[in-house]
Amino acid sequence: EKQALEAFRGKPTITADGFKKIMACNIGSPDDVKGALDQDAEAIGLFRSEFLFMDAKSLPSEEEQFEAYRKVAVALKGAPVIIRTLDVGGDKEIPYLKLVKEENPFMGYRAIRYCLDNADEYKVQLRALLRASAFGDIKIMVPMVTCVEEIRAVKDLVEVCKDELREEGYKFNEDIEVGIMTETAASANIPDLLAKEADFFSIGTNDLTGYTMAADRGNDKVAYLYSWYYPAVLRAIKSIIEAGVKEGIMVGMCGEAAADPLLTPLLIAWGMEEFSTSAPSILRTRKTISQWTVEEAKELADKAVQCTTADEVKALLEAAAK
Ligand code: PEP
Ligand code: MG
Repeated sequence: EKQALEAFRGKPTITADGFKKIMACNIGSPDDVKGALDQDAEAIGLFRSEFLFMDAKSLPSEEEQFEAYRKVAVALKGAPVIIRTLDVGGDKEIPYLKLVKEENPFMGYRAIRYCLDNADEYKVQLRALLRASAFGDIKIMVPMVTCVEEIRAVKDLVEVCKDELREEGYKFNEDIEVGIMTETAASANIPDLLAKEADFFSIGTNDLTGYTMAADRGNDKVAYLYSWYYPAVLRAIKSIIEAGVKEGIMVGMCGEAAADPLLTPLLIAWGMEEFSTSAPSILRTRKTISQWTVEEAKELADKAVQCTTADEVKALLEAAAK
């Protein structure tokens, strides 16, 4: 098996009928870049920036953040690097931010909600990202988006930061892309509206599964509901991909489901472009992609969306797996 995977090293990621896809990697710090490149990552599909914040004793400065982002951009030599802005709250705690304990943190003051409410802190991160964008293809990704208002507010702040940096004589990419992490049930209901505002989508299936099924990923009693084989989650994924494709923006996936070989044909069928996984899953996912033609994948996807239960979906996908 390992040897068979080696055959996919250094190869492009293409379907059996020649459609190009991108194998990207999820990282948590600049130190992870080497492992990603060793496993043949073509891009960084998710840099979880909160690790920079969790490892510190106080908010990392613009300089510190700039250094971390620049390092990754340079190492990728012009290949895309999607950096997610701070996703605090939910399951991610940062002690020095002194957030009040909430009854229901996954429904609370998390990610973009915190950041827009603390715009001065958020601007430090946006300025660092912009400055680093002079050194590679950095894209900004906004977590936990539920409405158009949020992405518009972020884009406005990015423009404010650009004006400041221009004034101060810094170089940056004027056309830096600002995309959305589609990971809330809300985002799956208005993907058409969000696609008009965003430069790209990346599907965060870890949260999307939880928010769609109203099941906490860490709660054993409801763990049986936490599965992307449920038709509710499959349809959410399908509608997000199709809305992005229709609007002509790049659609990727950076949740764990991107590495699930059973799901790969469905993602191909719906037109997803970038698969972002942990480093050890890159070659295996590239191999799975190579085993499907778009036509075969579409045939299977048509059957999958007609299934009624998660068990039926899973059985269908298992029977079809190569
Ligand atoms: C996700 O929600 O799918 C995701 C990739 O983000 P995280 O697991 O960091 O919440
Ligand atoms: Mg998430």
